[in-house]
Parts: sequence; C-alpha cells; structure tokens
Amino acid sequence: MRKKIVAGNWKMNKVLDEAVALTSELITMAQDEVQGDVRIILCPPAIYLTVIKKYIENSPNFALAAQNCSDKVSGAFTGEISAQMLQSIGVEYVLIGHSERRQYFHESNELLAEKVNTALENGVSPIFCCGESLKQRQNEDYIGFVKNQITESLFHLSAEQLLSVVIAYEPIWAIGTGLTASALQAQEMHAALRQHIASKYGEEVAQEISILYGGSVTAASAPELFASPDIDGGLVGGASLKSREFTNIIKAR
Ligand code: PGA
Repeated sequence: MRKKIVAGNWKMNKVLDEAVALTSELITMAQDEVQGDVRIILCPPAIYLTVIKKYIENSPNFALAAQNCSDKVSGAFTGEISAQMLQSIGVEYVLIGHSERRQYFHESNELLAEKVNTALENGVSPIFCCGESLKQRQNEDYIGFVKNQITESLFHLSAEQLLSVVIAYEPIWAIGTGLTASALQAQEMHAALRQHIASKYGEEVAQEISILYGGSVTAASAPELFASPDIDGGLVGGASLKSREFTNIIKAR
C-alpha cells in the first residue's frame, strides 16, 4: 500500500502569529477528526520552519517541507538555503520544481535534477512537482511533456533513491485558477507517469511511489480525486491556508 499524503503549500502567505494559529488549529482538528494512516505535510515559508517544528513534535502524522532549497551545497550564495540546513533542523521534505519556481525563477529540469541530488544526499525527500501549461495541454503531447520533466530531473537516480521521492502532478492551468483537473484527467496523467516510471525502474518500484495531485484542490473536489487508483493524495495551495477546509481535504484522502 502506497502512503497517502496531503501536503499544504502555504506559498508566501501568513505572518508568524497566523502561521502558528493555523498550525495549532490543524493539529487539534486532525487529532479529533482524522483517523487512519495519512501523512500531513505542512510547507510554510522557510522562516517559520523551526517554530512550527516545535508545534508538530508530538503529532507523528505531521511533517514539514520547505518550499525550495538551493542546488548548491554551501558557500557564498546570499539568500539561499541548503538541503543540509533543512536536514539540520529536522525538515523531512522539500518541494522541488513547483511551477511558480519554474516560471518566475527560471528553474530548468537540469537545475532541478541538481536540487533533487542535494536534497537526497542530505536525507531530505524531494516532493518533485511537474505539470503542463494550458497551451501545452491544448496543442501538444501534454503527457510526453510531463514525462520528459520526470526523465530529465529524476531518471538519473537509482531505484533506491527514487523511492525517497514523492511526485506531485500539478497542471499549471489548474493552480490558483479554480479550475481543477477532473478526476479522469488527473488519473490519466497519474497512470501515464506511473507507467513511465515502470518502464525505467520496473513495476514494483512504480507501484511504491506516491503521486499527489495539485491544482485548486478543495474539500469539494478532493473525495473524487483521491478515490482515483493512481492518485495518492494532494498538494494543496489556497485551500491549505484555512484550517477547516484543509482538515476536510485531509479527511477525504
Ligand atoms: P492551489 O495551489 O491549490 O492554490 O491551486 C496548488 C499548488 O500550487 O501547489
């Protein structure tokens, strides 16, 4: 059985008090309402990671992810945060290749491969984001485009390394737009990506990798999405900023 994961990407939102309040509410609601095995990953802005770590310490199904890390190990890179630093404060995951990083910070598949490497070398699991734009979905081989993102950023890894990676499929046209991919559209891509992984690493490895869906997930859309056979949970943006909504999404896993 693959691990069910619901991750909340807060992006550049919330001041400290709000971040702490959201975390406390989520912990209480999850304790009272969420049964069974699900990993809840909070992705706050990096500046709050150490603070929030303390709050989730006694909640074993909660974990933390940074929203980004440097491709470099250490040194004169002002403003950057290394995977080793994340590891040193107990952060278990890092988002790599979010479409906003690819778009606004021009992160290429090659650069993302370096980030994946440095994360894995430091024991931090990458949540590798991939997905196509609306134009690509309409005009091109959109499945081939996303497969290629995975080939170029992940297929140099050993099977053992790949098993530490979580994949998040996030069609760019569905991020923050209110347009969710239908469960059928998402399942089609997830199955194709799992097949792609199987073609390189074999069926057993492909069946073990968690593939999350992201893009305007809400408590209303989550149950149908998460019921699809190849969708193992979600990467949630906007709806993860509200404790009630996010808890309901977690419950849908
Ligand atoms: P959204 O963001 O849920 O607000 O669409 C998802 C994401 O960017 O990870």
